[in-house]
Amino acid sequence: MRLLILALTEDCNLRCVYCYARGGERKRYMSYSTAKRAIERHYHPGMKVQLTGGEPLLNYKVVRRVAGRYDVKFSIQTNGTLLDHEKAEELHDLGVRIGISIDGPPEVNDVLRPYPSGRGSTRDVLRAMMVLKSLGIPYGITCVVTRVNQSRLRDLVDIACAFGARSISFDLLKRVGRGRYLSPPDPSSVRDAVLYAERMGYPIRFRNVLQQTLNLRCAALEGKSVFVFPDGREMSACATLASAEIENPESCPFRSQGL
Ligand code: SF4
Repeated sequence: MRLLILALTEDCNLRCVYCYARGGERKRYMSYSTAKRAIERHYHPGMKVQLTGGEPLLNYKVVRRVAGRYDVKFSIQTNGTLLDHEKAEELHDLGVRIGISIDGPPEVNDVLRPYPSGRGSTRDVLRAMMVLKSLGIPYGITCVVTRVNQSRLRDLVDIACAFGARSISFDLLKRVGRGRYLSPPDPSSVRDAVLYAERMGYPIRFRNVLQQTLNLRCAALEGKSVFVFPDGREMSACATLASAEIENPESCPFRSQGL
């Protein structure tokens, strides 16, 4: 097992239209003792622990306690809207690598990643990215590619560079959860964005791209990731499979989608 994924909550302050985890529709939170038990059960030197949700910063007290206690490689994937100066500094001091989710310029990101009221979240995410840049804290961004934003990935690359992101991870839409009925994107849009960044000479790394374009085996299929639900239940799967409650990684529907 090389990756432990802790779903610190199913709750979320956003309602992204494609959310495979249906963030915000359920409200369970992971307790510190549940997180502690899971880490200690799977602990090994060099272990990676990903803190996710829902929105993991809604359970910040557990983030602080586990990150301050265990000498493992923590990362957190957040929508960024709750990330202020103080939390950014504290996470960095605790050695937690930060990933921010954003899908493009405001015209598309606000449509894809709104608050429950329908208001767009882009302004708040860009504020968090500016905080990280001003503090010199390295971070990466994750973009879910859909039909809505596939033609705006070059703009996202521009934004990432302007706001000091070190890497971009492109995840093609997974048609589960709230994304169940959305149309799949054209994967060539990712290749175009990567080539654009190279042409522009941007100092940015791309992640996940090869896995998606070459359909390499993932950690879940190799039995190397464990997902822990807020109530402590475990599943040997990636976050997407677990959220979709797909028990057997071999039946992963994304394989037949060529993802
Ligand atoms: S994708 Fe993330 S930020 Fe968006 S609703 Fe789902 S859990 Fe929340």
